Amino acid sequence: MIKNYALLLLALWVSGSVFAQDIHPCGTGDYRSEWFDHYHDHKELYRTNSDDTLYLPVQIHVVGTDEGGGYFPPKSVIESFCKLNEDFAHSNIQFYMSDEWNYINNSNYYDHNFQQGSQMMAQNNVSNTINCYIVLSPAGNCGYYSPGRDGIALNKGCLGLYSSTWAHEIGHFLSLPHPFVGWEGEDDVDYDEPAPNFVNGRQVERVDGSNCDDAADRFCDTSPDYLSFRWNCNMNDSSNVLQTDPNGETFRSDGSLIMSYSNDACAKRFSDEQIDAMRANIQFQRPNLIASAFIPQLITSDASLEVIESPAPDEMVSTFDEVTLDWEDVPNASNYLVQVSRIPVFTLLLEEYVVSSSELTLDNLEEDRPYWWRVKPFNAYESCVEFIDSSTFSTGTISNISILEQATALKVFPNPVSQGGAWQISLQLSQADRVGIRLFAIDGRLVFSDEQQLGSGRQEFTVSSQALSDGMYILELNLPKGRLHRKLNVTR
Ligand SMILES: [Zn+2]
Repeated sequence: MIKNYALLLLALWVSGSVFAQDIHPCGTGDYRSEWFDHYHDHKELYRTNSDDTLYLPVQIHVVGTDEGGGYFPPKSVIESFCKLNEDFAHSNIQFYMSDEWNYINNSNYYDHNFQQGSQMMAQNNVSNTINCYIVLSPAGNCGYYSPGRDGIALNKGCLGLYSSTWAHEIGHFLSLPHPFVGWEGEDDVDYDEPAPNFVNGRQVERVDGSNCDDAADRFCDTSPDYLSFRWNCNMNDSSNVLQTDPNGETFRSDGSLIMSYSNDACAKRFSDEQIDAMRANIQFQRPNLIASAFIPQLITSDASLEVIESPAPDEMVSTFDEVTLDWEDVPNASNYLVQVSRIPVFTLLLEEYVVSSSELTLDNLEEDRPYWWRVKPFNAYESCVEFIDSSTFSTGTISNISILEQATALKVFPNPVSQGGAWQISLQLSQADRVGIRLFAIDGRLVFSDEQQLGSGRQEFTVSSQALSDGMYILELNLPKGRLHRKLNVTR
């Protein structure tokens, strides 16, 4: 699962949805696989006996430019994944992230044509998972499924909490054609005239249902649809465009179908027959995807939960270049999205991070100013949990970095030390100084105190553990630039 990556991303991404009108909805084209036709011709061979939720692994690839710019922001990835699972909820098909997100820096993939996209998938596909690449432009489309590479490319401007693009492309991945299959690319049609019997070699579906078994997408519970461009629906989720079938009967397309090209406001469902086909496809054609059992872990988060541990709300932190944010573990969260802002709202972020533990150290804050931050837990499956808290603190003017640099040079050996032994302590000093050395027991008791005049360069001295019982102690070194602390242990 997702682990050990703290990504630093500038949140300067501007929603691409304003441009979505110019983008072709889907580049999958006229797609009806051999398996799909076999399924329709021999449904008796594809009986599935269970309605259990099928959990499918997804590998998310986040593609940026050669310089590492333009990534789809983590919050957007998480929200889009949430929407994907919502769109599939009524199918009892759900998705989980099989591994950490794969970041790819390649401008030719970021804005690609089909050939470059094919190369991207050949190079990066992970087996036994659904490979989804989030890019700037997948060959000018909102998305496409490549049957040749068995991968999905998605336009970051066509994703998010209100878009069904991801669900649409996974519909293709699980064998579904468009309800208007055959009409792809037919953009100069006079819908007042009766449609021909065939379009691009595909039977044209009639309103009376007489050929729904063979025509178009071969589903009888998806009504005729000849619209292969993005269209808006009316109050009844139907197209405004009236079309005429080969019998001369007029009809409007069903915009509630995710596999149609209706806009995101109306696309919301798969039909029962579409769901049956997808579930059969998973169990008979793609059993590798469900070979390893997945048990979802649910995050139960109370929005009013007080989870911030440090800095305390409104705390004035003394340092500015080393501030550690710390919050309580949220049960079943494997990762946290952390947002840091200079203003009390999170619309224009300083930065966004994904971490696998419940703390994060910031080294990029400015002196003497307020910051706001909030945390959203998620895991491989659950990505719909709200931000659990937001808090504010102010930075001080003390730099911790110069102390930190010395701290990295601070060495204690051996640690733990056995009772009666001595710690050998060495540190690097840029100039000769008096150094205070104190040792505290874990309950705060001072158990040792000394002061030494040390020269410049690497300096060494010892601290004896005689008279100390076993347990943990805190060593404190008082330097002109600040204090260093180390945990020391005494063992029996
Ligand atoms: Zn499509």
